[in-house]
Amino acid sequence: MFNQSWDAPQGNGNGGEKRTYTFWLRPGEAKRIIFLQDAPIQVWEHELYVLTKKSESHVCPVRNKIGDHCAICDLSDEIKKDKGLWPRLVGYSTVLDIGMVEWRNGEVMITPPVDRDGNPRPEFMGSKRLFRGKWGSEEKPSTWRILADKRQRIGTLMFTVWDVKRLGNKDPRVGSTFEFVTKLDSKEAVLEYLKSMGVPTDRISADLVEMINYSQELKPLSDQYITGILATAGLISAPVASESAPNFGVPLSDATGGNTVDDPFDM
Ligand SMILES: [Zn+2]
Repeated sequence: MFNQSWDAPQGNGNGGEKRTYTFWLRPGEAKRIIFLQDAPIQVWEHELYVLTKKSESHVCPVRNKIGDHCAICDLSDEIKKDKGLWPRLVGYSTVLDIGMVEWRNGEVMITPPVDRDGNPRPEFMGSKRLFRGKWGSEEKPSTWRILADKRQRIGTLMFTVWDVKRLGNKDPRVGSTFEFVTKLDSKEAVLEYLKSMGVPTDRISADLVEMINYSQELKPLSDQYITGILATAGLISAPVASESAPNFGVPLSDATGGNTVDDPFDM
């Protein structure tokens, strides 16, 4: 199973099914978030962008010791190196996405998130989100190395409040600057804080401050899907059974089994 720890990977860290939306920011956007746990959940993933041109990744069954077969790991080392398909260590945390942050004349304003049609959606204030960050390398630190460094002054990330901003579109989707706002001392204090930030009271409940169930959310993609995209990319020959199957190349939404629910904030 996955480890929860602050151990940064050596070197550059190369190395499902999601029911909860992933936290992300549009370029230029700033949000206020609360971390609900200290150390991130460490997961080895193969990033599939090079194959599918979609921002998706495959939780490696073998490297995470949750299965005994991984079609990507089975590729030759040469192909994995060439395509950047080695598993990479990423860190997951559970955050509450309180809302957009704006400063007006030195005063901070928390406003509801805006959906892709530009409508404010107060019913999404305080939503629980999966925060997926990379470690980067010692030479080029990314999200978790930056947060680990900032954490040293606070002692923990648990129940800490941050203003996060993504400056440019090449910056990580979870943001490029992290400004510490405050540290709360209990789950009850988090719920009170949400109220004080204008989160609608009908959204505030005790289970909102519980960590995501990672073994439920972070599942490897199906073997059928992975072998399908590897075959399409010409990295393996098409599986025998699929040659006669009329539906080879299962629709992505079915095959991934995840993110079929429409994220109203995704563009
Ligand atoms: Zn693998």
